[in-house]
Amino acid sequence: MKDSRAAGAERDTDVAIVGAGIVGATLALLLGQAGLRVMLIEGRESPASWQADSAPEPRVSALTPVSQQLLTGLGVWSTVAASRLMPYTGMQVWDAEGNGEIRFSAEDNGVARLGHIIENRVTLAALEQAIDRCPAITRCYGVRVNDLALPISGSTSVVNAYLLKDAKAVSLTLSDGGSVSAALVVAADGARSGLRDLAGIATREHDTGQVALVTTVRTALPHQAIARQRFLPTGPLAFLPLAVNDEWAQPSEAAPAAQRYCSIVWSTTPEEASRLQALSDRAFYSELQTAFEDTLGTVEWAAERFSFPLYQRHAEEYVLPGLALVGDAAHAIHPLAGQGVNLGLMDAAVLAEELLAGHRRGVALGDERWLKRYSRRRRSDNALMLKMMDGFRLLFGSRQPGVRLIRNLGLGWVDNRSELKRILMRQAMGERGELPDSCKPRQ
Ligand SMILES: Cc1cc2nc3c(=O)[nH]c(=O)nc-3n(C[C@H](O)[C@H](O)[C@H](O)COP(=O)(O)OP(=O)(O)OC[C@H]3O[C@@H](n4cnc5c(N)ncnc54)[C@H](O)[C@@H]3O)c2cc1C
Repeated sequence: MKDSRAAGAERDTDVAIVGAGIVGATLALLLGQAGLRVMLIEGRESPASWQADSAPEPRVSALTPVSQQLLTGLGVWSTVAASRLMPYTGMQVWDAEGNGEIRFSAEDNGVARLGHIIENRVTLAALEQAIDRCPAITRCYGVRVNDLALPISGSTSVVNAYLLKDAKAVSLTLSDGGSVSAALVVAADGARSGLRDLAGIATREHDTGQVALVTTVRTALPHQAIARQRFLPTGPLAFLPLAVNDEWAQPSEAAPAAQRYCSIVWSTTPEEASRLQALSDRAFYSELQTAFEDTLGTVEWAAERFSFPLYQRHAEEYVLPGLALVGDAAHAIHPLAGQGVNLGLMDAAVLAEELLAGHRRGVALGDERWLKRYSRRRRSDNALMLKMMDGFRLLFGSRQPGVRLIRNLGLGWVDNRSELKRILMRQAMGERGELPDSCKPRQ
């Protein structure tokens, strides 16, 4: 790994990736380890790091076994596994307004675990360590992209970017006064992608009318490695089992101390979120415990609370000549099924697979026709997931007695169909459609 910090410099690379979040950093490794020159441009000043005695981070992700496979192949998973992660072996989802409930278990699916709950910073720090070992990747951190100039194409709807007639390379102007010339630029700069806006790519978007309140909590009863979610009329409340270090886990007679920490994601109305934010600690613990039906007993402690507005967004185009969108820059999804990062990792794996296949055949990295192979493979899966999240939200948000009855009967019905449950679980574990080779289990 090289560091590119000369302010005002003109740089040249094969692929420039804007955004070193989990998705951008993974794509950088997929391409860099295959020998392409990659420049990773990130607004943050320095690479993410993680220390064993650090407090649990409020942002966590449920990574599927398919995502795990991808990170294993990149040499990242071993670092994650040596840091802090919680395998979960069960899932329980139930309706606050009725008796509908559904449970999934690893045992019923013939697997050791359904996935892992991991703090985002742990994954990011492990990715950064692998980037350190990859000489083909150059970091350019502490800068932002101010301008984008794309090669011209008759069929694009670019409005804001400069169109460079006859040019083969994309050009980026950076906030440090420097510039980068690349055969392909990838926008991995998150849900509010500035690059997507610069390229004039529109999004279909709607406000879910919900805000997610997230924090870490300690409960009296152990989580038993089960991810739980209760659907309230105002939105889902998830308790995701967390691993913590001894410094954090305080002794309790009631349960093994380390099993009593969860990361919560409480999706609710903006008014309710503001009210919950303003509560005293004691009042918050009590409301949280009641909202979760005392499932894990007394809520004894909670860390600082953070809120995120929840939007669903889908980019109208994933590619233009010399440009591709991945991760949240392409699609932002409600966190209720914990799929956001996993979808983004799948984008990175498919884009890398297509780029490297094209490169071997002499296709230019920014060739729009070739890039469309990526968008064809990923757009429909992401669109389906976005629709499903909308469906769940509307179904569980409805207070109409008829809808309530149907969803409760439906949950109970599905819970009794073991084969159907197995199919659903396999899908949630990331086994959908044709997986890229980097995500298939090695023999
Ligand atoms: C409350 C909540 C809970 C969630 N829970 C889950 C879960 O359980 N499982 C799951 O899979 N997903 C979950 N998600 C979704 C998940 O967090 C996102 O899908 C994921 O972080 C997207 O990764 P990304 O790399 O695409 O973008 P980001 O993580 O947003 O990274 C973008 C990066 O780009 C950088 N950047 C931005 N603009 C610029 C610029 N102009 N120039 C340079 N750099 C820039 C940023 O600094 C950042 O590092 C959750 C989301 C929320 C809000």
